[in-house]
Amino acid sequence: MKKILIAGCTQEISSFNPVTCKYDFFDISRGNEIYKFNKGLNTYIGGVIEEIEKTQNMHPVFTYNAQGHAAGILEHTSFLKISNELINSIEEHKGKVDGVYISLHGSMATTEELDPEGFILEEIRKILGQDIPLVISLDLHGVLTTKMLENCDGVTSLHTYPHIDFADTGKRAFKMLKKIMNQKVKPLCARVRIPTLVRGEELITEKGIFGKQIKYAKSLNSNNKILSAGFFIGNPFTDVPELCSQSYVFSDNDIELASQSALKMANDFWPNRKKMQAKLINIKKSVELGSKMEGTIAYTDAADAPSSGALGDSNAIISEMIQQNYPHSILSTLLDPKAAKFAHQKGQGSQITIPVGGAFDQRFKPLNLEWKVISISNEPFMLEKWGFLQTPGLTAVLKSGNLTIVVTSNPVMQVDRSIYLVNKLNPKDFHSVIVKSPHCEPEFYDNWVKKNFNVDAPGATSANVSSLGHKNCQRPMFPMEKNSKFSPKVEIYRK
Ligand SMILES: [Zn+2]
Repeated sequence: MKKILIAGCTQEISSFNPVTCKYDFFDISRGNEIYKFNKGLNTYIGGVIEEIEKTQNMHPVFTYNAQGHAAGILEHTSFLKISNELINSIEEHKGKVDGVYISLHGSMATTEELDPEGFILEEIRKILGQDIPLVISLDLHGVLTTKMLENCDGVTSLHTYPHIDFADTGKRAFKMLKKIMNQKVKPLCARVRIPTLVRGEELITEKGIFGKQIKYAKSLNSNNKILSAGFFIGNPFTDVPELCSQSYVFSDNDIELASQSALKMANDFWPNRKKMQAKLINIKKSVELGSKMEGTIAYTDAADAPSSGALGDSNAIISEMIQQNYPHSILSTLLDPKAAKFAHQKGQGSQITIPVGGAFDQRFKPLNLEWKVISISNEPFMLEKWGFLQTPGLTAVLKSGNLTIVVTSNPVMQVDRSIYLVNKLNPKDFHSVIVKSPHCEPEFYDNWVKKNFNVDAPGATSANVSSLGHKNCQRPMFPMEKNSKFSPKVEIYRK
C-alpha cells in the first residue's frame, strides 16, 4: 500500500488592502478533519479524495490544511506559526509516505516573505527529501515562482474563470502524481513569463479571448507525453517580484514538446493584452444612467471584492447614489463589525443611529444615517457553487430609506448571491444591487439583470490595474508601462 501525504495552505491577498491579516483568518483542519471537510465537495482536496478512493493500493495521509480567507497581507509571525504547524505535521510522516500532494493558491504574501508558497515547498523538501514525488495545485491567479518549480515535480492549475473546476484540478494533480509514482514518467517543465497583468471580461473562459488559450492548454492534456498544461494570469493585487502572466507545460521529459507548447501559448496571449483589460465606467456616470433605468441593475464593485482580498467596507457607490438622490431601492453589503455588534445589542425591530462602512479603509467615509434593524443573524453558510464555508460573524440587515444593507463582521465572498439569500433577501426584489466580486457565474446576475455596470470605484482590488501603485513586481509591466516589450524566453525545470 502506497501512502500519499495530503496537506495545504491556501490564501490570496491584496497588497493594497490597508489592513494586514492574522492567523485567525485561516480555517485550520488537521488529520481526518481534512477528509471530513472536503469529501464530496468541489474543492481541490475533495477531487484528490475522489480520485484516491478509486485507486487501488493507495492510501491518503491527511496532515494539515490551512485555508485562508482572501485578505490583506499576512502578518509574518502568523505565517511562521502556520508554516511551522504544517511542517511539524509533515515531519511525523518522514520516511513513511511515498508521494505528496500540496494544495496551494499561489497568491500569498507576508509582511516579510514575498514567496510564502516557495518557502513552504522548500521546507517540505528539506524534511521529505528531493526524491519523493511532490505535486501541487494552484489557482489560475497564482504566481508560479522559480522556488516553487525548483521544489516540486508537478503543477496543475484551474482551467476556468470564474472558477468552478477546483475538484477537477485536484484530480489532475493526483493523476499526475500517480503517473510519476507508478509509470516512472520524468516531469520536465517549460514555462514562459509574460510581462503583463490582465483583468476584465475577456478573461471569462466560457466566452472571452482567454478561454481559447485555456482550451489549447486543455487540448494538450490529451497528448500522453504531456503531464499538465495551463496558464497563470497572476493575481494583480499580490504585489510580489515574480507577479506576471505565464504559460507552463509539463511533459514526460520532452523538452521540445514542452517548450514549443508553452511558447505558443505565450505568443498567442501577448497580442491580446490590451483587449484583456477591464472596461470600466466612471461611478458618477453609472449612477446617473442607472437612476433612469428599469431594474434590476447590478453595480459590480470589483475594487472591493472580498474574494480578491479587499475588505468589503467600501460605500463609494452608495455614497454617490445618496449624493444623486437615487430614486430606487438599493441592496448592498458592508463589512462593519462595530455596527453589526450595535445592531445585535439593540435587537431586531429597533431604530439605531450609527456610522456604517469605511470601517477600516480610510478611503471611504462612513454613512451617518438612522437605520431600522430588519434582522440579525450569526450563522456560517455555504456558497451557492463553491465548497467554501463563509463565517460572516455577527450580521445585521439594516434599512434606511431606499437603502438595505447586510452588515457583516467578517469579510465574506460575494461570488454569488448567498450572503443575501441566507439573510432572506432576494436581489430580484431590488432595483439595484451592489456586487462586490469581479465576476459571478451568469445565472447569479448576468442572465437576468437589465444591466451590469462595471464601476471604476476606488479600492484595494480595483480592476483599473495601473491605478493600484505596484512597488514590488518586475517592471516594465503592461499596462503600467504601455509600451513594454516581450522577448519570449523558455525556462526549463527538471530534477
Ligand atoms: Zn482565482
